[in-house]
Amino acid sequence: MRNCPECGDKILGREDKKFCSDSCRNNYNNRINKDATNLMRNINNKLRKNYRILSDTNTEGKTKTTKAKLLSKGFDFEYFTNILNTKTGNTYYFVYDQGYMLLDNDFYMLVKKD
Ligand SMILES: [Zn+2]
Repeated sequence: MRNCPECGDKILGREDKKFCSDSCRNNYNNRINKDATNLMRNINNKLRKNYRILSDTNTEGKTKTTKAKLLSKGFDFEYFTNILNTKTGNTYYFVYDQGYMLLDNDFYMLVKKD
């Protein structure tokens, strides 16, 4: 006997029914979608904030700054959109078209993609 994943009740009726009722199916799907939406909204906010910090700091297209300065503005190093490994062995982290590369002593080089 199968049980409804939303309310736990036994499912009566056709073999391929996944929920006991339309309202359980709707509630279940709404909750799943809402969780995904919240997660995506939070990550998008982090990326947007990181992007704004990089853009505000890197006004010249290429700027040297420190980890402490980025952190003090609320930069979160866990959120970026892509990584670029150059042939010379450098690793750039990008938030859209704003990138940064770790230098020595917690300095960062900020760059902007053409
Ligand atoms: Zn149910």
